Amino acid sequence: MPIIKNPKIPLLHKVIITAISSLLVLLIIWPSEKEPPLPVTPSVLDETENTSSLPQQSQDTQPKEGDTQDDEEKKEITYKGKLNSLNWRLFKIKSGENLAILFDRVGISPTTLHNLILTDEHTKDLASLKIGDEIQLGFDGSGKLSQLIQPISASKTLIVTRENNKFESKIENKKVESQLNFATATITSNFWNAGIKAELNANQVLSLGTIFGWDIDFALDLRKGDSFSVLYEESLVDGVVISKGHILAATVTSQGETFTAVRTKSGQYYDENGRAMRKAFLRSPVNFRYVSSNFNPKRLHPVTGKIKAHKGTDYVAPVGTPIWAAGDGVVSESGFNQYNGNYVFIRHNKTYVTKYLHLTKRFVKTNERVKQGDKIGTLGGTGRVTGPHLHYEFLVNGVHKNPRTVQLPQSQSLSGETKRNFIALAKQRLEKLKEFNAPLAKVATEKK
Ligand SMILES: [Zn+2]
Repeated sequence: MPIIKNPKIPLLHKVIITAISSLLVLLIIWPSEKEPPLPVTPSVLDETENTSSLPQQSQDTQPKEGDTQDDEEKKEITYKGKLNSLNWRLFKIKSGENLAILFDRVGISPTTLHNLILTDEHTKDLASLKIGDEIQLGFDGSGKLSQLIQPISASKTLIVTRENNKFESKIENKKVESQLNFATATITSNFWNAGIKAELNANQVLSLGTIFGWDIDFALDLRKGDSFSVLYEESLVDGVVISKGHILAATVTSQGETFTAVRTKSGQYYDENGRAMRKAFLRSPVNFRYVSSNFNPKRLHPVTGKIKAHKGTDYVAPVGTPIWAAGDGVVSESGFNQYNGNYVFIRHNKTYVTKYLHLTKRFVKTNERVKQGDKIGTLGGTGRVTGPHLHYEFLVNGVHKNPRTVQLPQSQSLSGETKRNFIALAKQRLEKLKEFNAPLAKVATEKK
């Protein structure tokens, strides 16, 4: 039996994840305050002329009265081990700025900049600091740059020190620890909001949608009162969470039915009985993130004026939303007509056919082989429609079925020792999930 791989994430999906993550990162690192005002002391001398003076311990390095020290600068005081006689200032790279511009602003000579950057491999990266990056500069009593500290990441810090008129650098690594954490939510508006409110990050919410995407149509099936619980790992440095990681176990309860998934050590997801979460068909060919209304899907009726059973599911989402192949198969037709607009039909095997109508663009040709999750086109409003949407049909032996409730082929299951090991792991993780959940459940009962 082939090992079930993680669901394939289409490119746009990745782009969105990246975009959202970058946006979050930007929001986190965006300078929230104005740059600290230039201190009255020390005056920064041109170092090309005075490179022999040693750092002095003198009263001069103490901030004088009237010296403004805002919070950003005070933060430096807590920097362990680096607190010495130097006068420290903290800077954030501003828009349109680089280290050269920053140094110029501070009054450090181009020669010093040159020597600093060319110190070694580590210091080269100083040339490509980005907006929001922090840099701390320590000046000696004569105002000469003696030390530079630049946090590369939450766990890595570059420290450049002047030693005998030359710079030396080292990277300080902090220990990254990991721990389990937990999130749970009951849905009140939609799945995305519930996930973010439960303090999952964007990637985790999207992962949750992917892990359960073969069982639940997150775009249309979730209702108010549905809920989920998630056990995940997170990384810490100095006791502070620096990133949230993989979902280790999760349950989603939708309209009375509970689905469970547990991650194997190698990163695949199975249910508590060792059955793969991945199945032959996705419940929805559209990422839930795009679909406009989760609870009240607007049914767009054909504009023929005739009363006719609506034999498909309509997903209302912005024009250009990527449409995925629900399963592996061969494109039996990729074409255009006045009713369907741009359409793609996929034959998955003798039994199953799926149809995708009203697309703006088609990315596949007739007779082309497609894999589950492949982007076959983008959502549009071509053909006879009252507004842009995807009309999706699921046919079993030529008969239309509701793709969200139809019984689908069983997924593959683990067996033998692999299965026994997995069941043991799953038990542990689900037990942990329960443990986390217990105090909350108690609170809920007491409230009643
Ligand atoms: Zn329709």
